[in-house]
Amino acid sequence: MQLIDGKTIAAAVKSEIANEVKKMIDADLRTPHLAAILVGSDPASETYIASKERACKEVGFTSSVYRLSEHTTEEELLKTIDFLNNDEDVDGYIVQLPLPKHINTDKVISAIDPKKDVDGFHPQNVGRMVMDMPCFLPATPAGIMTLLERSNIETEGKNCVVVGRSNIVGTPVSILLSRNSKKANCTVTLCHSRTKNLKEVCASADILVAAIGKPEFITADMVKEGAVVIDVGIHRVEDNSEKGYKIAGDVKFDEVALKCSAITPVPGGVGPTTIVSLLNNTLKARKNND
Ligand code: NDP
Repeated sequence: MQLIDGKTIAAAVKSEIANEVKKMIDADLRTPHLAAILVGSDPASETYIASKERACKEVGFTSSVYRLSEHTTEEELLKTIDFLNNDEDVDGYIVQLPLPKHINTDKVISAIDPKKDVDGFHPQNVGRMVMDMPCFLPATPAGIMTLLERSNIETEGKNCVVVGRSNIVGTPVSILLSRNSKKANCTVTLCHSRTKNLKEVCASADILVAAIGKPEFITADMVKEGAVVIDVGIHRVEDNSEKGYKIAGDVKFDEVALKCSAITPVPGGVGPTTIVSLLNNTLKARKNND
């Protein structure tokens, strides 16, 4: 069984990005700048923002965080977005999701300048992704494609089942996997909570992508012998350890690992490559900004 090591793959991509930044510094050019807007103080969002800032530092990007109170109005948030859209020193920025319930997420995402939308969530980038035109790819799906490619996993002609159809993971990864490219060319089935016979559908997959948001939902009986399993989920699950919890994915790792040919661990699988995809998008935005 091959452990698809997201940390090592992410480190390799980071080093490639850092080399590009070094060339920019040597040429006296401005280095890429990634900004983030954080509304409220959700602990998971704080963690994500901190790891994004850390990753920026590692590759030589500058970064900034705009912290707004959880009571911020939609209008105030839109003003910050307008400010960042017009700040020439900001190459790309993200609005950390989820937003508080009183804010319309679709309206906020649509207000981001597509040229700075390094999360790839703006409808213009999503449309361009569907049409295989130059765009910013959403970070988690792009990271999954990087994991498959750099782990030399054959995708062409494979049956791929994606469980979960969210706009940020399931739906875009199903599109990327079905693209007409040597790095994709899968026959994709996209499953969701209304899918009938989910177990049988999953068990038909050569490549199974789990993006359900339910801890250890995918069990060994749902996985074909020799399948490749990509676990997108990340959860804190209470246990009897000293810490009182463990980090688990959407896949029951211990039993599925015995059956599959390759699998991503949680943590250390999809998460690290998600962040480097964001860095790649920011580098691209910087280059487009010349
Ligand atoms: P969402 O909650 O937005 O979507 C979950 C999807 O799973 C929905 O499409 C839902 O179906 C489907 N689903 C839920 N229950 C079932 C079921 N019983 N059977 C079949 N399908 C089901 O989740 P996200 O896509 O945002 O995230 C998925 C997971 O990935 C989460 O654990 C999240 O924390 C993690 N994540 C990890 C990232 C990383 O970088 N590692 C980045 C982003 C997310 P329906 O549409 O019918 O409701």
